[in-house]
Amino acid sequence: MTVAPATPVAPVLDRVIGQPTAVAALRAATKAPLHAYLFIGPPGTGREDAARAFAAALFCPNGGCGTCDVCEATLAGRHPDLVVVERHGASISVPQAAEVVRLAARTPRAAPYQVLVLIDFHLVEKAAPTLLKTIEEPPSTTVIVVTAESVPADFVTIASRCARIEFRPLAEPEVVEALVREGAGRAMAEAVAQVAEGRLDRARLLVADPGFSARIARWRDVPTRLDGTGAALAIAAAELVAAANELVEVVKARQSAELEELAEQAKMMGERGLPGRADIEARHRREQRRIRTDDLRAGLATLAALYRGRLDSGPADARTAIRAIELIDEAAKRLTLNVNDTLLLEWLLAKLDRLS
Ligand SMILES: [Zn+2]
Repeated sequence: MTVAPATPVAPVLDRVIGQPTAVAALRAATKAPLHAYLFIGPPGTGREDAARAFAAALFCPNGGCGTCDVCEATLAGRHPDLVVVERHGASISVPQAAEVVRLAARTPRAAPYQVLVLIDFHLVEKAAPTLLKTIEEPPSTTVIVVTAESVPADFVTIASRCARIEFRPLAEPEVVEALVREGAGRAMAEAVAQVAEGRLDRARLLVADPGFSARIARWRDVPTRLDGTGAALAIAAAELVAAANELVEVVKARQSAELEELAEQAKMMGERGLPGRADIEARHRREQRRIRTDDLRAGLATLAALYRGRLDSGPADARTAIRAIELIDEAAKRLTLNVNDTLLLEWLLAKLDRLS
């Protein structure tokens, strides 16, 4: 007698890429979800995708099939019982926390639960006390998913009240496989995965970016362009920054298409204008800044890899390479401090120029 293989629990969770431990925990949770989960890990590791898939598993009348209308609407972020809360400013404000408390008290409209996804709530700061009781004890039909990158002091108590689900950076081959599955060529997927730092969001952006190869080539060219003159390094620095800005333009085009679509949807729902437009635009600006910094950091990593390749070519070269890598690391650290990118790159290139 043959035994039919057991149907996997919540197949919709198979869509979460490269996080087997997190997925196993979420699968186990679908039968009787707890009141609150903390999805913790670096950006670009699929925490929000996983939150949507988890919500679909809880909403779907077929146990999270991944293919029905309910699953599709939830995965696309269009289900009325999936509520995603993004921060408005640099941190979560007390009024925004109060709004979360109000939302958490609502009863689900269509599904057995409502899922409240609180994005980047490690930035909760002074709003933590307002939220604490809701996160400890939401109504039994509300499941809260808090996404966070870390657990700063203000956030410790809230974090301790949630079941912790860890997300890790993806391994390079996982990024390659995901991109190939989504239709990218293998050579391109491999080149992108090398600089994506285990982040699928970044890899997806780069794979869709026609200027990617040219930008990487530009960074690889840097050492040959330095000729001991200030003019050469100023031109090189300006070009590197301009190339990062080109990527930002690609993102801006995608964002305005998103905004248009949302405005169109709002119009069909009979809204005048787009509710929360200012918040969306603020999120877009944050995303633009982050993408620009990430791109410059990836460029610096490409440059560092180039010098690392020289470590084996004799002691004099090795000493120069080690110093160059230190300088590049220093520049990468300063990049996150909101400095002027062009001046920073000019500083770095001048130092590198003097080494050779
Ligand atoms: Zn379904």
